Amino acid sequence: MAENYIKRVFGQRKKIALIAHDNMKQALVDWCRDNKSLLMEHDLCGTGTTARLISEKTGLGVYGYNSGPLGGDQQIGARIVSGEIDIIIFFSDPLTAQPHDPDVKALMRIAQVYDIPMAVTKSTADYIIKSELFNSSYVNEVRDYSSATRHRNLPIEK
Ligand code: PGA
Repeated sequence: MAENYIKRVFGQRKKIALIAHDNMKQALVDWCRDNKSLLMEHDLCGTGTTARLISEKTGLGVYGYNSGPLGGDQQIGARIVSGEIDIIIFFSDPLTAQPHDPDVKALMRIAQVYDIPMAVTKSTADYIIKSELFNSSYVNEVRDYSSATRHRNLPIEK
């Protein structure tokens, strides 16, 4: 592995974030129901309303953060930074403007920075959940940007 990369291990039991915009919630609930036997072997979390709906309609345990427009996407983004999210299933709505669009973009960006598998469509979610990597561990090599940003952490000289 090149020196300027760091390893992050996605364990066999994945930490999965589930998010759906309002027009897509039913589709995500249906997808979770269809894949319940696989999902129940993993640790699930999600934005507030999505997490509650999935729990109520499928019986899966889903830890709920704040609702997306109230900071839930940012809470999940912070967990990515801490290495506590392995997969994102995000049924986003491509046809409706969202009041928290900056948060959505920030979540997608930070998922890219840390190379987190992220499905924004059902077919991608199907590919992820049917992958042989879904139930096995995976070593993710992420670019280590710390040398490029180290100077930002220096105390300000007075
Ligand atoms: P919600 O948030 O699950 O609380 O509806 C999702 C979102 O709109 O980002």
